[in-house]
Amino acid sequence: KKYVYLFEEGSAGMKDLLGGKGANLAEMTNIGLPVPPGMIITTEACREFYVHDRRFPPGMEDQVREMMTVLENKTGKRFGDPENPLLVSVRSGAPVSMPGMMDTVLNLGLNDRTVEGLARAADRRFALDCYRRFLHMFGDVVLGIEHARFEHILDNCKQRRKVTYDHELQAEDWQQVVAEYKALIERETGQPFPQDPFEQLFKAIYAVFNSWNNDRAIVYRRINRIPDDLGTAVNVQVMVFGNLGNDCGTGVAFTRNPSTGDRELYGEYLLNAQGEDVVAGIRTPRSIADLKEEMPSVYDQFAATCELLEKHYRNMQDIEFTIERGKLYMLQTRTGKRTAQAAVKIAVDMVHEGLITREEAILRVEPAQLNQLLHRRIDPNAQLEVIARGLPASPGAAGGKVVFDADEAETLGNQGEKVILVRTETTPDDIHGIVAAQGVLTSRGGMTSHAAVVARGMGKPCVCGCEAIRIDYDRELFQVNDLVVKKGDFISIDGATGQVILGHVPMIDPELSPEFQELLQWADGVRSLGVRANADTPEDAARAREFGAEGIGLTRTEHMFMAVDRLPIVQQMILASTGDERQEALDRLLPMQEGDFYGILKAMEGLPVTIRLLDPPLHEFLPNAEELLVEITRLRLTGASEEEIGPKENLLKKVRALSEFNPMLGHRGCRLGITFPEVYAMQARAIFQATARLVSEGVKVFPEVEIPLVGEVKELAILRQLVDEVAEQVMKERGVTFEYSVGTMIEIPRAALLADEIAREADFFSFGTNDLTQTTFGFSRDDAEGKFLHEYVEKKILPENPFMVLDRAGVGKLMRMGVELGRSTKPDLLIGICGEHGGDPDSIEFCHQIGLNYVSCSPYRVPVARLAAARAKV
Ligand code: ADP
Ligand code: MG
Ligand code: MG
Repeated sequence: KKYVYLFEEGSAGMKDLLGGKGANLAEMTNIGLPVPPGMIITTEACREFYVHDRRFPPGMEDQVREMMTVLENKTGKRFGDPENPLLVSVRSGAPVSMPGMMDTVLNLGLNDRTVEGLARAADRRFALDCYRRFLHMFGDVVLGIEHARFEHILDNCKQRRKVTYDHELQAEDWQQVVAEYKALIERETGQPFPQDPFEQLFKAIYAVFNSWNNDRAIVYRRINRIPDDLGTAVNVQVMVFGNLGNDCGTGVAFTRNPSTGDRELYGEYLLNAQGEDVVAGIRTPRSIADLKEEMPSVYDQFAATCELLEKHYRNMQDIEFTIERGKLYMLQTRTGKRTAQAAVKIAVDMVHEGLITREEAILRVEPAQLNQLLHRRIDPNAQLEVIARGLPASPGAAGGKVVFDADEAETLGNQGEKVILVRTETTPDDIHGIVAAQGVLTSRGGMTSHAAVVARGMGKPCVCGCEAIRIDYDRELFQVNDLVVKKGDFISIDGATGQVILGHVPMIDPELSPEFQELLQWADGVRSLGVRANADTPEDAARAREFGAEGIGLTRTEHMFMAVDRLPIVQQMILASTGDERQEALDRLLPMQEGDFYGILKAMEGLPVTIRLLDPPLHEFLPNAEELLVEITRLRLTGASEEEIGPKENLLKKVRALSEFNPMLGHRGCRLGITFPEVYAMQARAIFQATARLVSEGVKVFPEVEIPLVGEVKELAILRQLVDEVAEQVMKERGVTFEYSVGTMIEIPRAALLADEIAREADFFSFGTNDLTQTTFGFSRDDAEGKFLHEYVEKKILPENPFMVLDRAGVGKLMRMGVELGRSTKPDLLIGICGEHGGDPDSIEFCHQIGLNYVSCSPYRVPVARLAAARAKV
């Protein structure tokens, strides 16, 4: 079997077999660029190495020897020849770029005799410099002797000679260092440094193969979801020397600016240096622009090569090069990593330059990366005092005074103060505080905890699950180790990284660059999946529109019930003991709700707006039973009168009566509508009165009334009739006609299973995948994320957290069934999704595949969804 390829035998398409570095070296060789000759030992050899209990596969070593002869003939040098020695580098190269793998060994082939040959052929100081580098790298990466031990010897030498920089040392100094390095190696390994070049070579190849399974590499693969069985290739390449004098050098460059995307060469180089000196900070490197002055003809050649490589690969390249005696050599090229901003600019520019198509540009930008562009963020050049780190729950950066209480956050917020709400966790009772705060920090809860979901919905920065902070509500402070942060102290949070920072930090505003807008327009031209937003206020609706939303897929009416001025009325409605009392509360809520819907429908003029009727269990609007009990006890102890205590006890009784064993599966959604029809009737009336007003004002609106948590068609039939009756009444009262539709959420497995029946009564479906995921798995989200889900993912029982990335296998199967059954009854049934998954690129792809009409997500994710929907189609 062929285990070893010469560069000219490979190509860029052979990455799986030759690794990324090798495949690109082969490609550059074949397009005629100056690449020092070399060979590639395949990833297959590495895989077989592991099958054979870490032994080289049979025949591999002979092939390496044969190929060395080819390299010898190409260069006219001999491996191990004391007169004119061939030296090589041994470089690892996996199919996907992987920091954490073995480092490169340079100048392999040197020993006590060949170093003399090299000295005679070139220069003694240079030859010894190469030898000490080789001993260091070989000792460190192949023999496993700590890097610092070598550094220590070198530092001592520099101290003795009273110099700061390596290049100030003379040949004799290097001679001394070489001797000490060899002694160190012998001491540490119990054997003299291997003098035989082939022994050196095979030991280095062995070390590269071995490094595939070192801890760093394994962890890196796990975090980045890279399969463990790819294996790495090994590149053995003839050395060229950047350290032969001042007409030599080495450097790295990007063909465009990787942080802005500007079209300019961006990089650094060092004269008279080798390998990683540029990045190792040995001397301060110079900007690539200086090379133009220093070596004009090399620079021109380099610039032309960069351009050629960009045209060839049709992408921005990250390049490594070396100059030997005024001659340029290319040592590596690969697709350059870039910021979101640069990714967008480069993709769009390349379309205008005719390098790539619009579809390719759409595929070049990762939707998830766009988040970086849609939020205020911390100036990347700022010095930060990071005190703790939590989960990056909702991107964006914010600063403000620490506040531990939602009411206080609201009061201060209304006074124009910037505050950060700090809680162990948040509940729906804290919403008004979150609204008023710049950002939220919690010490408990996962990426889909209440705080995280609400903050993301509002586009507000949030760091959650920050376990390092210990909150003491009584003393109004939190502690991180010994540091005490008190109420009123200023902190900043970065919801994109999870950092918690003491004090103020400089921020930069989100940029919706012209390139970004252009890219999104191209995406709109491609996609067939609609994009709507989840919005509960006219402001959110307007923002969603700005970001390109084509309607509202979910308005949650319960958020409107939570506002401080309404909660008492809502409580009165819930606690009413007579029908009249309840009706009185509802009559007070009606104009408020009408105002809410008027605002949202108006903001979305011309576009559909799905309004969900009341969904959560009622006790969410009531005071906490335990807190009430504490208060009653306190009143008792202080000898308060029965008149004072009585009503509280009554309240407690009602709260207890309403409390449920399992609210998530309890009295909520359409079940409330069935038992308290007057609540839904009030909401329907509010929607239609707002509609009637807008229609008479000449505003085109399309309300879609949505019934939550339906599992049985009769539920929907009853409530639909109720809504239709109210609509008819309002039309009659106001003397106008208007369009509206009535549909349902599909969020109970039974609804998906019986979607053909349910579709008879529904004008539209919207998959509520948060609840559908909970009910399909039988997981309660808060418990699952807090207790066991991370372990499920870690142990690969589940591929992802199903609350973040849609579970295609299970939940997805129900959705597919729901779509097919629903459309078997009504072929043009409108179907969307409004769970959190509606903003997740992977889930959006699935929604496209099963033929949904639209996804709906938080306003800030609308651009992400537009791009993801287009990528699903391309
Ligand atoms: P990494 O994957 O960490 O970038 P490389 O294998 O690219 O490691 O090697 C690092 C550096 O070593 C290269 O950028 C180059 O400067 C130097 N290098 C590698 N091979 C050679 C060679 N044959 N001749 C000269 N320098 C080399
Ligand atoms: Mg490299
Ligand atoms: Mg739901």
